[in-house]
Amino acid sequence: IERTLSIIKPDATRRNLTGKINAKFEDAGLRIVAQKRIQLTMAQAGKFYEVHAERPFYGELCEFMASAPVVVQVLEGEGAIAKNREVMGATNPKDAAPGTVRADFAESVGENSVHGSDAPETAAVEIAYFFSGLELV
Ligand code: ATP
Ligand code: MG
Repeated sequence: IERTLSIIKPDATRRNLTGKINAKFEDAGLRIVAQKRIQLTMAQAGKFYEVHAERPFYGELCEFMASAPVVVQVLEGEGAIAKNREVMGATNPKDAAPGTVRADFAESVGENSVHGSDAPETAAVEIAYFFSGLELV
C-alpha cells in the first residue's frame, strides 16, 4: 500500500481550512497516517523545494512556505500518490477540476493550498524529510 507526503500550505492554514481539506482526502479513500503542524524556516523550505532552485518563482515560493505554519502529513492508500494529486487538482487553480482542493480553496498558482509528492522516489525522500520512523506506524 502506497504512501505520499502532503503539505497543507500557509494560505490554507491561515484560513483554517485543514479539516475541510482533510475531509476531501478521506472522502477519496486516503488515510492520514501521520500529521503535524510545523513552522518552516526559509532554509528548510529552500531545501524542500531545491529542485525548483533555478525557477524564477523559487524565492517567492520559499518565503511563502515559511510565512506561517504548515501541516505536513503522510497519506496512505492504493495509488496514494496519483490519487492525492487528483484530489489536489492542477497547480494553477484556474485549471483545476471542480471539486478539487485547489479549485475550491487555492488563491493563485503560487498560493495553491497543498503540496503532494509526484513519484514514489520523491515521496520516500519527502516523508523522511519530515517524519522519523517512530512517527510512522
Ligand atoms: P507541489 O510540488 O507544491 O505539489 P505541483 O507539483 O503542482 O505542486 P510544481 O511545478 O512542482 O507544482 O511547483 C511547485 C510549487 O511552486 C507549486 O505548487 C506552486 O506553489 C509554486 N509554483 C509553481 N509554478 C509557479 C508559478 N508560475 N508562479 C509562482 N509559483 C509557482
Ligand atoms: Mg511538485
